[in-house]
Amino acid sequence: RFLMAYRAVNPYNGELIKEFPAATDAEVEQALTAAKAFYQQAKQQPLEQRAKQLAALANEFTQKTDYYAKFLTTNMGKLINDARGEVQKTAAFANYYVEHGAAALADQDYTAIAGRKAHLEFSSIGAIVAVEPWNFPYTQVMRVFAPNFILGNPVILKHASIVPECAQAFEDACQAAGLPAGAFKNLFATYDQVNRMISDPRVQGVALTGSEKAGERIAAEAGHNLKKSTMELGGTDVCIVLNDADLKKAVAGAVNGRLRNSGQVCTSAKRYLVQSGIYDEFLAAIKEEFAKYQPGDPLDEKTTLAPLSSKSAQQNLQTQIKAVLAGGAKVLWGDPTPVTGPGAFFMPLIITGMTYDNPMYDHELFGPVAQIYQVEDESQIVELANHSNYGLGGAIYSEDLDKARQLASKIETGQIAVNQPLSSLPELPFGGIKKSGYGRELSDLGIREFANIKTVLG
Ligand code: NAP
Repeated sequence: RFLMAYRAVNPYNGELIKEFPAATDAEVEQALTAAKAFYQQAKQQPLEQRAKQLAALANEFTQKTDYYAKFLTTNMGKLINDARGEVQKTAAFANYYVEHGAAALADQDYTAIAGRKAHLEFSSIGAIVAVEPWNFPYTQVMRVFAPNFILGNPVILKHASIVPECAQAFEDACQAAGLPAGAFKNLFATYDQVNRMISDPRVQGVALTGSEKAGERIAAEAGHNLKKSTMELGGTDVCIVLNDADLKKAVAGAVNGRLRNSGQVCTSAKRYLVQSGIYDEFLAAIKEEFAKYQPGDPLDEKTTLAPLSSKSAQQNLQTQIKAVLAGGAKVLWGDPTPVTGPGAFFMPLIITGMTYDNPMYDHELFGPVAQIYQVEDESQIVELANHSNYGLGGAIYSEDLDKARQLASKIETGQIAVNQPLSSLPELPFGGIKKSGYGRELSDLGIREFANIKTVLG
């Protein structure tokens, strides 16, 4: 086993910041024991007590935004202003459950056949293992932690190996906020240890956000052990621009949707589907906007294009782009030549001519690469949008709201936005269908994913 598998390397300059040894089996056992103790203790305590503790955690992130933001920038390259935004959003996710968790878990009355009374109770089930990605290192963890903590389920985190300081910082924040022992534990766990935790009876669920490949492995492990799982996986979301779209709004949404976080977002606008009547104008405006993105130090507030998360992410995207072009697609705008130097940079690209028989058609390109398709009518749009193994999100731009909403209903995804890029909001369920996974995070649905929904008749 790799003893130093968890390494923080600054993707801007390639410098090694810190290495962390993998967890020992004794640490895994301690985490499970502490988690069980928290689970049992939380059953005896009012939810309001945990709501106060979660509010303290939100406050910790709000008060020390700059401190927590820096780890995001140095570990995975996020622009410093976006990093501050992520810390604030992390607090907002916690505060949503502080305010609304109790209502989402209140008993729900049902009337059974022949007027017999029944109700549902929502209660904790045990520890949840959260396996999380590097692209939003705090919000992804809070999406799982906040609802489960309110419910009374402890969370054990296995974070991505390239953001260990962020994982450690989240645990430090929990301690600084005075959260009870066992409620949250970060482990620099190996895949093997994750599997063993999933099979342990003290663990009753696993939440993964990550790639399709990780999803297949972890869902299989959960299935093998008959444990509940949620899978928040990848996507090839469309950004549909109809002839009657407000060009400015559509361009702003499309650019932000594709280049935010250097294009490393599950719900990035990866495929632009643009109707003929607006295609030329849209493309000209997109090129102009893409050209404004310039690489630089993500700690510098003036930088517009951050590096990718790591050198291996850069190499992986280069390999994918080569395959995309070998498969018959063309570069419409941008320079696909690899950026040299220590920074993991990748310059924005616009690709055209992607066909269903391109071997890369259904692959997620995790970086600032937009595919563009000129489309004619609604049936072609629906066909193309739904011709995907994924089904995560999407966006539609049109000034005819009824038409846009009708079209939205025909797109096979778990979520879709009209006249705005899709983003995660604490009040709204987030998740996908097909190979984008299953289950929902955030909102009232998110807090019930790992609840025992118990029917009480009489
Ligand atoms: P990844 O390689 O799948 O890694 C995600 C996490 O899974 C990491 O912690 C990784 O650990 C772990 N992991 C991978 N294989 C594992 C296994 N067999 N057993 C245990 N743990 C395992 O994905 P990524 O490259 O970090 O993240 C990008 C992906 O996440 C993209 O596909 C993106 O679309 C998706 N994503 C989805 C959402 C959503 O809500 N739907 C949100 C954000 C990102 P190591 O780092 O140690 O390998």
